Amino acid sequence: MEDLNASNNVSKPDNVLSVITRATEIFLRGSLATWQANIFDVLRLLGHELGITRIYLCKNKQQHDDQVVTGIRYEWISDTDTANVDPPALQEINISESGYNRWIETFRQQGIIFGKVSDMPIGERGWFIGAEAKSIIAVPVFVEQEWWGFICFENYAPEEIWTSAEIDAFKTVALIFGAAIRRKRTEEALEREKKSVEQQAREIQDIARFPAEDPSPVLRISKDGVVLYANRAADPLLQSWQVTVGEHIPPHWQSINQRVFESNQTETTDVEYADQTFAVLFSPVISSDYVNLYAREVTKEREVDRMKSDFISLVSHQLRTPLTAIRWYSDKLIRKGASLDANQKEWAQDIYDTSIQLTAIVNDLLNISRLERGKIDPQLKPNDINKLINECIHELTLHAENKKITLNSDTPPIEPFNFDGELIKQVILNLISNAIKYTPNEGLVQVKTRVQDHDVIIEVIDSGIGIPQADQAAIFQRFFRAENASKQGIEGTGLGLSFAKMVVEKSGGDIWFSSTENNGSTFSFSLPLQPKVDTITS
Ligand code: ADP
Repeated sequence: MEDLNASNNVSKPDNVLSVITRATEIFLRGSLATWQANIFDVLRLLGHELGITRIYLCKNKQQHDDQVVTGIRYEWISDTDTANVDPPALQEINISESGYNRWIETFRQQGIIFGKVSDMPIGERGWFIGAEAKSIIAVPVFVEQEWWGFICFENYAPEEIWTSAEIDAFKTVALIFGAAIRRKRTEEALEREKKSVEQQAREIQDIARFPAEDPSPVLRISKDGVVLYANRAADPLLQSWQVTVGEHIPPHWQSINQRVFESNQTETTDVEYADQTFAVLFSPVISSDYVNLYAREVTKEREVDRMKSDFISLVSHQLRTPLTAIRWYSDKLIRKGASLDANQKEWAQDIYDTSIQLTAIVNDLLNISRLERGKIDPQLKPNDINKLINECIHELTLHAENKKITLNSDTPPIEPFNFDGELIKQVILNLISNAIKYTPNEGLVQVKTRVQDHDVIIEVIDSGIGIPQADQAAIFQRFFRAENASKQGIEGTGLGLSFAKMVVEKSGGDIWFSSTENNGSTFSFSLPLQPKVDTITS
């Protein structure tokens, strides 16, 4: 059919050329925003100048081998100058089912279909008869290498014969459409990219603004302690340090800053200013050589904490005196009550043991309130360590005797030196009572002291149940209890050792242990003979 109506007479070459030039210009000047208007301008131009009744652009929607579904995207009709976009009745046209397989093959090979409708195979006339088209020309549109769809020109005038100039013009027009669609796609992609870049920029700006508007203090401190950034809410912190942005933070805070940076571990500490308390989290950013500080006002929380621990501390102190009396009288009864019969002696012993247990609980309560305040300030005074140990042994002798445990000490003379007698007594009492508690009847508990270099070492050795290897790493953690202790129903709170560790470390010493399950434990701690005490709030 292709050759039927082709004519070599070049009747409107000038007109055709100028139409193509103007169509190209329309697309060149246009933008994404004017895309649709540009399409119709071009269709209208082609229609008017080349005398065409109806022009439409079909876009392929699905393509599977020989199945092609297409639909009219843009349509222009001359007599009413109507411009349609996606006319609803002309969507989802399955060309293969409609008998246009020849068109598919031709288009795929970049060929064109043209001629009088009356000359077309019967199966292909359906589209045009109803529309009264007398001749048509359909040209595929390719976008890059992809067959995008086709453009169809219909003439309703009876004897229209397409000139070769017109056919060339239509082919060129299809090329121009292909190029314009490609440009549109590129522009859309650019637009999308621009939008996403703009979106990212907005997000970055929002994030950047975030700390400034954050009602909680946010600061950035360089590795060497210079304030690099502080939001408005951080003013009280800067005032408490008496610095502004660009200045060095005070030495004590710089030591925390440096420690955090070097260990690459976060640390939280309280800062008090005027009547406010802030919990400040130091968070290192190693790759950038600075530490971020995030603070939160905790004035109320700290007040409630303080009230709780004041209450616990008060009640525990009040309990201690009557408990001491109970222990003292029951001790007296057992030791000197010759007139007591066996039963009565046993009851007195029970009273004594219970008072020991209660004292341990009360001590734990007191210690926990000290821990909760986060403040342990050892009061340094010359004290005799061996004397202190003997007092502790004396307090616990009956307890040991009740379990037929041998409790003795090996304490060569040591000159008095500076430590907090009250706090260290709590540590020794805790270690000895643990040794008795975790040693079965008829065992052995020994306390030894010695001087080693610049320290005094105190050791509490027992022949007890020991600590399973798997539990050893956690033994100084608050509330931690080893499995064997809990399983055997031995009472405890898991607080004594964490308190002991804190006291010993605040006193400038160290605490450690060695233990084998079922074979006993040795808890040791050191105290410096000449302590340099760190009394900083932790
Ligand atoms: P508590 O004895 O009140 O449970 P501690 O903090 O004093 O709390 O001790 C923590 C845990 O360490 C104990 O529960 C126990 O499992 C283990 N432990 C401490 N001392 C000894 C010891 N001398 N022998 C065996 N286990 C011990």
